[in-house]
Amino acid sequence: MSYIAEYIWIDGTEPTAKLRSKAKVVDDGAEPPIWGFDGSSTNQAPGDKSDVVLRPVHVIHDPVRGGDNKLVLNETLLTDMTPHPTNTRAACAAASEKYGELDTWFGMEQEYTFYEGRNPLGWPSKSGFPAPQGGYYCGVGADEIFGRAVVNDHLQACIDAGLHISGINAEVMPGQWEFQIGPVATPRAADEMWLARWLLYRIAEDHEGPSGIPISATLSPKPVEGDWNGAGCHTNFSTNQMRESFDACIAAAEALGAEGKPELHIANYGAGIELRLTGQHETARYDEYSYGVSDRGASVRIPWQVERDGKGYIEDRRPNANCDPYTVTRLIVETVGAAATGK
Ligand code: ADP
Ligand code: MN
Ligand code: MN
Ligand code: MN
Repeated sequence: MSYIAEYIWIDGTEPTAKLRSKAKVVDDGAEPPIWGFDGSSTNQAPGDKSDVVLRPVHVIHDPVRGGDNKLVLNETLLTDMTPHPTNTRAACAAASEKYGELDTWFGMEQEYTFYEGRNPLGWPSKSGFPAPQGGYYCGVGADEIFGRAVVNDHLQACIDAGLHISGINAEVMPGQWEFQIGPVATPRAADEMWLARWLLYRIAEDHEGPSGIPISATLSPKPVEGDWNGAGCHTNFSTNQMRESFDACIAAAEALGAEGKPELHIANYGAGIELRLTGQHETARYDEYSYGVSDRGASVRIPWQVERDGKGYIEDRRPNANCDPYTVTRLIVETVGAAATGK
């Protein structure tokens, strides 16, 4: 019996790359082979030199098709087998190896917003537009919760696929949710994040909203203007030193604030970050860097238990929901790694 391998990759769409996938039937017992696609249709190649190579980097059980079928995450290569210019994984893997002695772990909190057609799910529902935010975060009841069936199916699918998903919660804006991946080293953390995003989009296809339109999910950083929270991807991380020492946690927070670093990170933490990091709605302004214990208005938060225990991890609250997790985790590994090792 053959199995179906759904080949997933990240395209060249600007300013925010999109996920693409297509299926290949593979002989029973064979590994998913190197494959390719038409890069002229994904903003990754001109039409006269259109071949882009897909190299499998992370293979998991396919919880949607079930059976022996697989989801195959790929990196993109040029035909000479060097990384494609849109391949951000290669640099992430290289940084992770360079600073491997620090064994850096990541826990990423992916916020996202459901849509039904052109409106966020529940905007409006049959009973009208939602009341101002306040009661939705971790809420319960049909007046506050929109899309729970998709969230639960996605959570179970991620577990069945063997991803390191660590939880879900309803967010501050109605129709907005979060899942967390980690803690796990990168590039695996970012691989799993891209696979979990693909599963979210795919599973939502099979669910309808109250108007009978299939549900979609977006990583837009500010889906609704005005007095509504945006969507981020808080990135928690720890080195082996931070897991033993509070001073190392502070040193990491200082390293992220060193000259030139805040600008470098903000410029690579997702398109439209100025729209979300306004200084309101539990954010610090994009052009001001700060850190503090328990401070949800700081760029970087040190959780209260970390201060109490004198060791642990810190939370970079700046990345947008639409960030590239390869780039975010690479930058943190490089900035904190260089400060910690002098390399
Ligand atoms: P918040 O209180 O900010 O909403 P969450 O519980 O949503 O926090 O997410 C915290 C994330 O931090 C989880 O993904 C968790 O796995 C991760 N995490 C926990 N310990 C560590 C650690 N030592 N290093 C890196 N990440 C960690
Ligand atoms: Mn969270
Ligand atoms: Mn959140
Ligand atoms: Mn958080």
